[in-house]
Formats: sequence, structure tokens, C-alpha cells
Amino acid sequence: MTADGTQSGPAGSGPAGTPLPGPVGDGTRAVRAGLPEPVKHEPALPGPVFAAHFHLPGEATGPYRYARDENPTWTLLERALGELEAPDGTTGGTDGPRSVETLVFASGMAAISAVLFSQLRAGDTVVLPADGYQVLPLVGEQLTAYGIEVRTAPTAGDAQLDVLDGARLLWVETPSNPGLDVCDLRRLIDAARARGTLVAVDNTLATPLGQRPLELGADFSVASATKQLTGHGDLLLGYVSCRDAATAEAVRRWRKIVGAIPGPMEAWLAHRSLATLQVRVDRQNANALAVAEALRERPDVSGLRYPGLPDDPAHPVAVRQMQRFGCVVSFTLSSRDRAERFLDALTLVDDATSFGGVRSTAERRRRWGGDPVPEGFIRLSAGIEDAADLVRDVLQALDRAL
Ligand SMILES: *Cc1c(COP(=O)(O)O)cnc(C)c1O
Repeated sequence: MTADGTQSGPAGSGPAGTPLPGPVGDGTRAVRAGLPEPVKHEPALPGPVFAAHFHLPGEATGPYRYARDENPTWTLLERALGELEAPDGTTGGTDGPRSVETLVFASGMAAISAVLFSQLRAGDTVVLPADGYQVLPLVGEQLTAYGIEVRTAPTAGDAQLDVLDGARLLWVETPSNPGLDVCDLRRLIDAARARGTLVAVDNTLATPLGQRPLELGADFSVASATKQLTGHGDLLLGYVSCRDAATAEAVRRWRKIVGAIPGPMEAWLAHRSLATLQVRVDRQNANALAVAEALRERPDVSGLRYPGLPDDPAHPVAVRQMQRFGCVVSFTLSSRDRAERFLDALTLVDDATSFGGVRSTAERRRRWGGDPVPEGFIRLSAGIEDAADLVRDVLQALDRAL
């Protein structure tokens, strides 16, 4: 057994060790998130536990029995994520009135599906964003096939409010991917709560260091940990943080019956990556702002979006609910051809999908067909390169694409 051992509580229980009196900063929280009580001769972060089953004499009690249900490596990661997603002043523990319970999944889509399919029944209504992650419409089709009414409305202008009446669950994605629109979380959540509607927020783009949906009253904060949260582009993972133990139980049951569980190696790599979360996020987001500021000066660039730019339409709402604005910048070049030449001419930015990695990436989003964006639409994710180099590369590639 790892240092986590038998003295640890169930998944999502609070941080080990005596807490430093007073609040600590995000870097401190990230580097210590989920670590167990130090044990002599054990590593600070215990290694991945590879097991399909655990030694279990007698009654089938205790946390670790069969590894589709629980694994000690997940427990530590879930505790870490719970600490980061928890409303300020609470831990990720299961003991307080504002407790947070977190469950990890094999991918962001597994986490998203777990919330939607565990909470909705035939005859229910769900409100999805019209401009959310590109797989969300496929999920919507599946929900419809199961007799659930699916309504959609754009993220911008809090338009989902207009179709909320009678809904069992509101699904929000802010900032939206790839359009980077932002909705007013507090306003949507208050309206939903007044109607008895559950709220789930896709927190992938912001990360818990950028935005804490549970603190704003959401029932679920859901994310793909594949992106900036883990940041190295070497694993897929997802998680759900739940404010309420009963809803968390339904999500846990869904994970058990569908079995969309992460491997211990992925879970461990993710936890290791959390140590550098604040350093990566601050550097990447500063780089994204530098790129956005440079793009703003270019007459050949239109539709520039970055919520951290003071003149971005999303900025006034973003500053009220976000602590950091993300590493993704989107913009449009005048044609598909020009966008492709721009991507070819980049030297420090890989032409690749996904986002949030330490190496910058960009892609012509329309090549997937799914998103309702122009042919020349580019989604660029800033990495941790030196800002001056990154900006220089983007500008030279624009010049060569003219
Ligand atoms: C990537 C992404 C997902 C899906 O996550 P996977 O880990 O790829 O399954 C969901 N929502 C958003 C906003 C994403 O960017």
C-alpha cells in the first residue's frame, strides 16, 4: 500500500498535514494539492498503483476492492482536484457543509457524459450551449434518442437564459471553445437555482486557477484534464467536481457501470503535472495576451478574441468571474488558403489540435467540419516559450501568408 494507506479517507477527503494558518496562494495550493501525510522513506507523491483488484479477506468493505471502482492513485488526484475546485475557504473534503467530491474519468468526454447521462431521464429537458465543444452536439443527438428534450442557445449574451424554463439541467461552457465567448455565470446559476435547475460548467478552458464554478454556485465543475490542467499533451483525462454528495453518488455509479476509468499511469502523470499548474498557466496566459496584443495591430487579422484583452466583448464579464483568462486566442484570416499558409510558416507553433500544452499549437478549426466558424478561423494555444519569440514567429508567419 502507498503512503496514502489506510489512514486516508474516501476519495476527495481533505488535504493532509497541518494547514498553514491563513490563506495561501495558488502556486502553493497547486504544488501541494492532494499530497498525503509525509511518510519516512516514501516519496512525496506515491507512485502509480497498478492493480485490477486489492487483497480483500473477509467482508467486501473498505475503499479499495476492485479497481474499476476505486484506486489509491485516483484518490490522491481527486483530492488534489477537489482542493483546487473547492469554493474559497473550504477544502476538498467530504465533511463540511460545502463539501466537494471529485471523480476522475478516462477523458473529458467521459466526465461530461457521466454528468449528463447520470442526471437526465427520458422526459427531462437539458439546455446545452449552441457553440460548445464540438462533440457536444453528438451527445445532444444521443440524449434526444433517449427521449430527453435538448435545447440550445449561444453562450454570448447569456442567451441560454431564454430557454431555461422547465429544464432539469443547464450545461454551460465559458469561455466557450473555440469562439471564446463568456457568459455571466452568477446570473445563469442564480436563474437556474430559482427554477430548481441543476447547473454544470465546463471549466476546461479556464482551469480551476482561472475560474471556480462551484464557488459561484454551480452543482458541477466538469473538465477535460487533457488540456491546460495537465499541460504536456501526453495524456487524456477528465474529472467532475460535485458540490453535493447525492449528485456525486449518481456520477460515481455511472462511472462504475460504464467503466470509463483512467489508467493509474495517466492519473499519476496528471497529479505530477499539477505541481507546475500555476507556473504554466501564468506563463501561458501572459503569452496568449502578448500574442493577442500583437494580433490586434494587424489589419490582416479579423475577429480577434481573447477574454483578457480589455477591449474584448467578453472582458467585462470575464473580469468579474475569472482570475485568469486562459491560453487560447482565436482570430480569422481572410481565406482558407491564407490560414493554411500562415500555419505552414510558423516555426515555434505546431499545427495540431487540442490546446493548453507547454508547446504552442494552432490549427484551422474548420478542417474538422464541426464548429460553425469561418474557413480562415485559427485557434492558437500559447505555450511557455519566451513571449518575444512567440510573437515574432506569429508576426513573421502572418507576413509570409500575405
Ligand atoms: C477537449 C475538450 C473536451 C473533451 O475532452 P477530452 O479529454 O478530449 O475527451 C470537452 N470540453 C472542452 C471545452 C474541451 O476543450
